[in-house]
Amino acid sequence: MNLSAIKYNVLLHLKNMPGPTVNKKIVVIEADDYGGIRIPSAEAYHKMKAAGVAIDPSRYNLLDTLENKADLEALFETLQTVKDSNGHAAIVSPFVNVANPDFEKIKAAGYQEYFYEPFTTTFEKYGRESNLMTVWKQGISEGIFTPELHGREHLSVQLWMNELQKGNHQVRTALEYGFAAVNNIEGVHQYAQEFRPEFYFTNNKQQAFLKQSISEGVKLFTTIFGYLPTAFTPSNSHFHHNFEQAVFDAGVKFLSVGHNNPYSQPNGDLAFDRFTFRQKIRPNQLNYYIRNCAFEPNDPAYKNIDITMMQVAAAFHCSKPAIISTHRVNFGGVIDSKNRDKGLKELQALLKAIVQRWPDVVFMSNAEMLGELV
Ligand SMILES: [Zn+2]
Repeated sequence: MNLSAIKYNVLLHLKNMPGPTVNKKIVVIEADDYGGIRIPSAEAYHKMKAAGVAIDPSRYNLLDTLENKADLEALFETLQTVKDSNGHAAIVSPFVNVANPDFEKIKAAGYQEYFYEPFTTTFEKYGRESNLMTVWKQGISEGIFTPELHGREHLSVQLWMNELQKGNHQVRTALEYGFAAVNNIEGVHQYAQEFRPEFYFTNNKQQAFLKQSISEGVKLFTTIFGYLPTAFTPSNSHFHHNFEQAVFDAGVKFLSVGHNNPYSQPNGDLAFDRFTFRQKIRPNQLNYYIRNCAFEPNDPAYKNIDITMMQVAAAFHCSKPAIISTHRVNFGGVIDSKNRDKGLKELQALLKAIVQRWPDVVFMSNAEMLGELV
């Protein structure tokens, strides 16, 4: 290990040390952004670019679209190739945005009113296979794909609607293509560019809408999946303690936060809450937990599985579960099948390396793992 690797390893241990311990080597994979839209197609990307819409050429805007059957089946197949010490296949807990804006209805209402649709309706609009949700449910019943909540939309709805109402040409043009994540919006805080953090707000009056988004999001999740989510990971890890009660009242017991968790101040600026691995579990109120590993195989900075392995090792060394954060974009092949192939090849390499190094490892869903913490 070179000096910077040693320093990083010390930091990992410091982050993992606080909080109660678990006596099993648990691995959880939490994959964000399922359900939510990003780029409808490569064609839409190029047409919007040509029309002068400011789109950041990030891996999300280039590759992240709603998955199809082949994507899910390939993911499930990969998970089945690696078994833990109990003979259980690896598990992904997708964190789902259960709704997307209904672009047609919003436009028909002259941008004066906001409408949303369940993500299952967006699947239909995108022409995805009619039995795509059957594949989701197969994954759920096999215990290898265990949905949790990422929010109602992955969108700062009120900020975005404000731009539409103002007649922002780029935002309205993007709407024609079913795209919302426009960049370089004048007067919008750097942090809220692309309108991705659902809970970003610029004045206190916007909080009521967001509290309603929480209760409606949980309700829609329960209608679609038939159970309450155990955990909620707010989009872009952006939250505000004023919403805690709404999450708890909706029936969700755990909130995933960052070590340095941003929240909005009434003027739109950011403030930060600091968290270590886990605060003390308190009964009858919302509890926090933190993801302590990351795996992003299609990130330009990604080299191989080594950093994730180091993070897993630090978690186990501190008797913590290894909670691996990842995103749908790594495993999507609709726009580029090579992207999916690479993501799944790396995922398999990671899982195989984990069971080889820690033969007593246990794969768990997010909900099972959180049950072990209490
Ligand atoms: Zn997200």
